[in-house]
Amino acid sequence: MMKRITIAGGGLAGLSAGIALAERGVPVMLCEAGSYPRHRVCGEFINGVDQGTLEVLGIADILGTARLLSSTTWFVGDERVYDAMLTEPAIGVSRHSLDERLAERFVARGGELKEKARVEKKEEEGLVWAAGRQADRESGWIGLKVHARDMATVADLEMHLGTAGYVGTARVEGGRVNICGLFRRQRGIGGKGVELLLNYLRENGLEDLRGRMELGDLDSAAFVGVSAFRLGRQVRDGLCRVGDAESIIPPFTGNGMSMAFEAAETAIDPLVEFSEGNASWGETVSGIEARLEKRFAKRLFTARFLHPLFFRELGRMMLASSARSGVLPFQFLFKSLR
Ligand SMILES: Cc1cc2nc3c(=O)[nH]c(=O)nc-3n(C[C@H](O)[C@H](O)[C@H](O)COP(=O)(O)OP(=O)(O)OC[C@H]3O[C@@H](n4cnc5c(N)ncnc54)[C@H](O)[C@@H]3O)c2cc1C
Repeated sequence: MMKRITIAGGGLAGLSAGIALAERGVPVMLCEAGSYPRHRVCGEFINGVDQGTLEVLGIADILGTARLLSSTTWFVGDERVYDAMLTEPAIGVSRHSLDERLAERFVARGGELKEKARVEKKEEEGLVWAAGRQADRESGWIGLKVHARDMATVADLEMHLGTAGYVGTARVEGGRVNICGLFRRQRGIGGKGVELLLNYLRENGLEDLRGRMELGDLDSAAFVGVSAFRLGRQVRDGLCRVGDAESIIPPFTGNGMSMAFEAAETAIDPLVEFSEGNASWGETVSGIEARLEKRFAKRLFTARFLHPLFFRELGRMMLASSARSGVLPFQFLFKSLR
């Protein structure tokens, strides 16, 4: 008889791992603290996910119907500095719809789904920790997002660099635009819901985007915020970690969702081996950890090297002037970050 796997966390990593395991005949239960559908703080564009990965996970058809995003425009403050076409399009899809569709697929494949079920963190045989960001009270980051039902955009993907943060917009399904920012938290900036995001835009010198948002039809039900998280590798504590629970790439890359899928893909074979009784839990956990480290080392390093540039005046100036003069190695960077 195959051993059971329990997954804590039904975001992209947990759900896609759950689907793949269920397809391979592994008895799998997934506990999600929240319920579906729900909005998540996310830029909602996926850069660099491989078709092969999606096929291994059994979810290629779900992503296959999503919107393809090809044009991108970069702004530094309110100045438009760069327009380009991506050589390989990104995918634009709301987490509201994507996570719900994955949850439905998981149940359809025979997985047992428990919503509103928060799992206590503990080392336990067969427990996969896919519960997302590790809380870090010292963190200075705040992430805010909202949808606009109707908003003027100049490209499928826009990137706006402010004085202490950046904001991406992405066209998603249903004519909606997702607007999502990562900022250095500033105590003096207040406001409730969407107003908080608009205030961060003002303080960051992003008046053009703010003005366009105010003219659009903002969906306040889609507003979500998150703080107290840190970027990069998360703690090592002997748990079998996948997705953001294992490492968080800076969001400007648009690669976090792809990494969640890739982490699930990496974990599948070792978890099946464990379930079949061919590997101990200790071997399984350390094997997955080593594979993830190897798979993500280069892009995490590149992203963490570039990320601080966005938060320094000199970095923003260099980026703006290299973009204006056409020497920004944009396609190269986009490729190195996937
Ligand atoms: C500001 C910002 C912008 C971003 N923009 C992009 C982008 O444009 N493109 C991109 O690819 N990535 C982006 N990302 C990253 C992306 O959102 C994450 O990498 C991705 O969501 C990781 O998926 P996950 O499944 O690991 O975690 P999550 O999606 O966070 O899912 C974790 C799940 O676990 C549940 N949970 C938590 N604790 C427990 C518990 N104890 N028990 C049970 N369930 C629990 C939560 O409710 C949640 O549903 C962005 C991130 C931020 C912060």
